Amino acid sequence: MTFPIPVVSAPPGEETGAGLKDIQHYMRDGTLQLSALPPLSLYVHLPWCLKKCPYCDFNSHEAQGELPEQRYLDALMADLEASLPLIWGRTVHSIFIGGGTPSLFSPQAIDRLLGDIRARLRLEPDCEITLEANPGTFEKHRFKAFRSAGVTRLSVGVQSFDDRHLKALGRVHDRAQALAAVEEAAQAFDTFNLDIMYALPGQTLENLEQDMRQALALQPPHISIYHLTVEPNTYFAKYPPALPEEDVAYAMLDRITELTGVAGMDRYEISAYAKSGHRCLHNLNYWKFGDYLGIGAGAHSKLSFAHRVVRQVRFREPRLYMDKALAGTPVAQDHEVSRAELPFEFMLNALRLREGFKLQDFSDRTGLPLTAIQAGLDEAERRGLIERDFARVRPTERGFDFLNDLQMLFLDPDQS
Ligand code: SF4
Repeated sequence: MTFPIPVVSAPPGEETGAGLKDIQHYMRDGTLQLSALPPLSLYVHLPWCLKKCPYCDFNSHEAQGELPEQRYLDALMADLEASLPLIWGRTVHSIFIGGGTPSLFSPQAIDRLLGDIRARLRLEPDCEITLEANPGTFEKHRFKAFRSAGVTRLSVGVQSFDDRHLKALGRVHDRAQALAAVEEAAQAFDTFNLDIMYALPGQTLENLEQDMRQALALQPPHISIYHLTVEPNTYFAKYPPALPEEDVAYAMLDRITELTGVAGMDRYEISAYAKSGHRCLHNLNYWKFGDYLGIGAGAHSKLSFAHRVVRQVRFREPRLYMDKALAGTPVAQDHEVSRAELPFEFMLNALRLREGFKLQDFSDRTGLPLTAIQAGLDEAERRGLIERDFARVRPTERGFDFLNDLQMLFLDPDQS
């Protein structure tokens, strides 16, 4: 549901369906020099929802009848096993089970999934394991059962506590269900996230303030807040709703930052607010340009090797994905990120963080020299969008306000 990784799509025409290439292909000589591989996360995509929301452009599909849980889990494990040579010997720092609506899967299925993963991968002892849940799939004790299955963090897709706005968003839950779900999440988990959206159809600044006050009254350790955007190929793109004006949306964001600040939450990333000790490690790894293996329908991966950085996408349509994964060929696209693309890809993520990034991390994660971003950094500093010292670069307040402009300074001119 939430999508914290800004992904640059593979160039058209790269849909190969050729499956995973031989490991030697990824290990061969190349022009990048990565001194060490970054931390590795695992993303698992469970693609079904009760109903497609009109604004949603994620790879989610309406569940028709019973979910093919066992076959899908078999496919995920076939996918993982085929991918193991690419991450051999590496420890997994976090797992994120996203969707779709993963909480549609039974706790028994999540238990099997995590057991199967543990049998194949070495996990950090305190590995963060997040599961996305929707209040519409909530029933008493379900969240506790996910906790018993090994999930350590729940991300609840509330979006709003206002029945009018939930209806406008086409959500299957109402305010009462959202409140009950958050209450159980708080009882079952030491840490959890609420997903909230703003700039909703018909929403006023006062409505937003009420939503935020309600959210904060529940004392969530973490909130992710997204501006509703109308994406191509969605119902809203075809039948656009009346959305608040841009200046109202800016005022809403200012209010959100103010109210979360008063509640002791730190805006550590452009859309993420956390109490001390509750930052999302999985998402931090994306934003720090770490590696992630994505398994499941339509899942994206970013994997580093000594001389290259590779992106992969799995087949999107769930049934096709299951067939392909069970046949040992889950990968639809496999593309090597070029030297020219890497600075922008790194900045697209790293500049979302309030604390920015260490210059050394740029070289370590991209295998490129710092000269590759020198001109962009000089220009960003001249415009007051970043501040830096000899070791670190941080976006300024202005840089955060004009994040797109800042990121664009690192786009290779041939690709803009
Ligand atoms: S719940 Fe709605 S927004 Fe979330 S993935 Fe499903 S269809 Fe998309």
